[in-house]
Amino acid sequence: MLTHDDVLTLFHECGHGLHHLLTQVDELAVSGIHGVEWDAVELPSQFMENFCWEWNVLQHMTAHVDTGAPLPRALFDKMLAAKNFQSGMQTLRQIEFALFDMLLHTSHDPAVDFLPLLHTVRQEVAVMHPPAWSRTAHTFSHIFAGGYAAGYYSYKWAEVLSADAYAAFEETAAADGTPSAETGRKYRESILEAGGSRPAMESFKAFRGREPTLDALLRHQGMAA
Ligand SMILES: [Zn+2]
Repeated sequence: MLTHDDVLTLFHECGHGLHHLLTQVDELAVSGIHGVEWDAVELPSQFMENFCWEWNVLQHMTAHVDTGAPLPRALFDKMLAAKNFQSGMQTLRQIEFALFDMLLHTSHDPAVDFLPLLHTVRQEVAVMHPPAWSRTAHTFSHIFAGGYAAGYYSYKWAEVLSADAYAAFEETAAADGTPSAETGRKYRESILEAGGSRPAMESFKAFRGREPTLDALLRHQGMAA
């Protein structure tokens, strides 16, 4: 009786759990998720969410409460379409917030009104512009009271990392969709076992053999073929 959203949360938190459980680091401060940079700590968790959007996975873990029939493919396709609805707009919104946050906490003079800064950022990236009386920024507590100061970008960046990591599984899966055990082993050793014992970028490169690219995220969110 779990909703798809519940299952996403379960897989997400399970990713954090695996990060802790599979650690090979004995120093608590850098084992598991400890000591992993803020902008990479959601990689293992968001990575797991991808499985909830795999038809091969979902059809085997769903059953109608009365008939026991798995989730119909047509319904799955609709869920997928709804997931990517306006994903471009969502991305621009996150980029707008991230840029504003970054500039506000780096180059902006605190004595100067910050609304014109937000306006400048919007001129650069926004497609839809809110009315002039909008004061959204004044209640953007994430970056003022939530500890995200100059770190709001980490939401989008973690998506880039997790999508690109998951793409390694897509690239090496068997024809019937079965994930590669070898890729799984490499992911476990490079990312999960290492925890915060080295820079997250080093772990990522150990797994992927290169720095992250945007391609997989754009594809997963329906913005690229
Ligand atoms: Zn999380």
